[in-house]
Amino acid sequence: YLNRAINGYPSCSKLLLVFSVSCGGLVAYADSQSDSGRHSVEPNQIEPRKKRVVVLGTGWAGTSFLKDLDVSSYDVQVVSPRNYFAFTPLLPSVTCGTVEARSIVEPVRKLVKKRGGDIHFSEAECLEIDAGNKKILCRSNFNENLVGNNEFFLEYDYLVIAVGSQVNTFNTPGVLEYCHFLKEIEDAQRIRETVIDCFEKAVLPGQSDEERMTNLHFVIVGGGPTGVEFAAELHDFVHEDLVYLYPTVKDLVKISVIQSGDHILNTFDERISSFAEQKFQRDGIDVLTGCRVVSVSDKLINLKVKSTGVDTSIPHGMVLWSTGVGTRPVVKDLMQQIGQGNRRILATDEWLRVKGCEDVYALGDCATVAQRKIMEDILSIFKAADKDNSGTLTIEEFKDVVEDIIIRYPQVELYLKRKHLFDVMDLLKDSSGNDRKEVDIEEFKLALCQVDSQVKSLPATAQVAAQQGAYLSGCFNHRERCKTNPEGPRRFRGSGRHEFRPFRYRHLGQFAPLGGEQAAAELPGDWVSLGRSTQWLWYSVYASKQVSWRTRVLVVFDWTKRFIFGRDSSRI
Ligand code: FAD
Repeated sequence: YLNRAINGYPSCSKLLLVFSVSCGGLVAYADSQSDSGRHSVEPNQIEPRKKRVVVLGTGWAGTSFLKDLDVSSYDVQVVSPRNYFAFTPLLPSVTCGTVEARSIVEPVRKLVKKRGGDIHFSEAECLEIDAGNKKILCRSNFNENLVGNNEFFLEYDYLVIAVGSQVNTFNTPGVLEYCHFLKEIEDAQRIRETVIDCFEKAVLPGQSDEERMTNLHFVIVGGGPTGVEFAAELHDFVHEDLVYLYPTVKDLVKISVIQSGDHILNTFDERISSFAEQKFQRDGIDVLTGCRVVSVSDKLINLKVKSTGVDTSIPHGMVLWSTGVGTRPVVKDLMQQIGQGNRRILATDEWLRVKGCEDVYALGDCATVAQRKIMEDILSIFKAADKDNSGTLTIEEFKDVVEDIIIRYPQVELYLKRKHLFDVMDLLKDSSGNDRKEVDIEEFKLALCQVDSQVKSLPATAQVAAQQGAYLSGCFNHRERCKTNPEGPRRFRGSGRHEFRPFRYRHLGQFAPLGGEQAAAELPGDWVSLGRSTQWLWYSVYASKQVSWRTRVLVVFDWTKRFIFGRDSSRI
């Protein structure tokens, strides 16, 4: 337009015109900027032509949803207090400098840019979800940037909640004040500094050996995958790097893992948890099982030994609290509104729709998928195996049935086969403890109800979150097609329930790095792999799972750098 307009004017007028058009452009640009500034308060009210999808969170579930979403069909608004995605499985490596923090994060704007189309990102935290009026209240991280107020509302047609979880302290006194957590990049960086601080403090002159030992006692509360991996990383850091830099205190260092259950890594196969325990014993890492932490102070951890009820105290230099996941306040508040207040975690149906409200979906650590249908299926498999309708199965028939269930529903395997099956098995004994020859289906029904809540919830892992994100974006991408064809795609016709196939989790296995270039892996098909070769498998899987080539190259570079030069122990 500008070119065409200019050609019809003499040269000085051309200049004037260009000037005025540019100024006009600038004014219009400035206007649009100030408008967008104003509209950033309610940006998705500008063009409500397309359905508005608001996504809360840029973790595993949120980014996996965004990565595959067909953004041309929706007006997408992403809200998260972090403007990056963090590859959480490598967080323990950041605590000791094996991998640098910036190597495992990818800016969200870069990720969403790949999609093209209309995705707006707001660096803000969602404070409240008003499911009745389909809007959310957010607060930006910046006080000074928004005129007067840093809070704003966003309206949605569909809301995707992927805000993850927060640390669960079980209201233990002193935990918030004196313990470290390992959930965010900042946590890992703080731990790295504290570890070095403990060593620097321990070599200051004028201290007794007892004080030095206290400073160099690193305690990890929680023997799950995160706690175990951190203990292994720290052990490697101390023995491969720090002992050479702080030789005078090298014999005073101690690492302890406190676990309330009987074994560490108790969600893994038994072979893995006993391999880990033996490895830790060889490495001199203390594993205290069957102990519950009752309080923490700046210098002591107070414990109760479960079996004897005896109270004891352990001095510490640093504590990492790594015991399970808790619900974020915004999710708790929503649960109160929609009648889920008595639950621990947000319940969704098998299509990831939050129960009790319209057009709200929840994925990842903040939600749990009701697997009631699976329980129904399990019972029907039992009943089908009872060919003579006697209401009983022989032990052999029962074992076949369990195998059948595990093949059909791999996610049930984690609970049924490994742990709770043994609880169920206990019910197979008669009152005097002898094995029964037959199993009563009704009794089984009762036993299954007891483990029902365990079977219902999927593990809180990146794997589940990513699969849920990919599943939901698939549903969103086909929504328009399903609207024009209300019976749904041909292959789902006749189901009569929903146009989409329900979410099914595929368990692809899990790793536990144990330090000293050794790892344990639980692979599909009940395979267990242990030792050095597994560590190389871990390197290749984690390199391949990086979200971009940039982070992949950086992570591999960090590993190589560590092999050649060791870890950096400067406190900067
Ligand atoms: P997250 O990834 O935690 O993302 C939540 C997002 O929501 C974040 O972007 C956060 O900033 C944002 N958010 C928070 N509050 C709000 C709010 N109010 N409003 C808007 N946005 C909000 N899993 C594995 O499968 N394998 C592993 O090896 C593994 N290792 C792990 C190691 C560590 C140290 C940790 C902490 C976890 C590990 N996990 C692993 C678990 C895995 O990280 C989680 O299961 C996964 O991150 C869950 O994904 P998510 O999207 O639900 O939550």
